[in-house]
Amino acid sequence: MSDRDNLFKRIIRGEIPCSKVYEDDEVLAFHDIAPVAPTHILIIPKAGIDSLNELTEASAVLAGKLLLRASLLAKSLGFSEDGYRVVINTNEAGGQTVPHLHAHLLAGRRMTWPPG
Ligand code: 5GP
Repeated sequence: MSDRDNLFKRIIRGEIPCSKVYEDDEVLAFHDIAPVAPTHILIIPKAGIDSLNELTEASAVLAGKLLLRASLLAKSLGFSEDGYRVVINTNEAGGQTVPHLHAHLLAGRRMTWPPG
């Protein structure tokens, strides 16, 4: 899949609609189209980073901003105290289906461990 066709790139460009919950110059957050928890938000960098494998010293700050946004969204949605889960799937065995770095914020139900 070319970078131009990458689903999340198309969402960032506004070619595919999303239910947006947060946006700034570097980060976009929107509801997952197929939620696996009562609250399921995807938090993505606008920069094209395929996966955690491509993270560098330079992009580490941006990755930190994904986690910061997860924390702030969880707080604003009232999940901080009860708890929530942040997941970053990486490549095929890790369950990644869209080749653009993204964090899943899952909340609103009790999570189980180990994950499937
Ligand atoms: P992954 O499996 O790569 O970790 O996560 C990709 C996520 O993108 C999945 O949870 C999937 O439901 C979500 N997704 C796939 N297509 C769309 C879409 O068109 N819109 C939104 N909002 N989410 C999508």
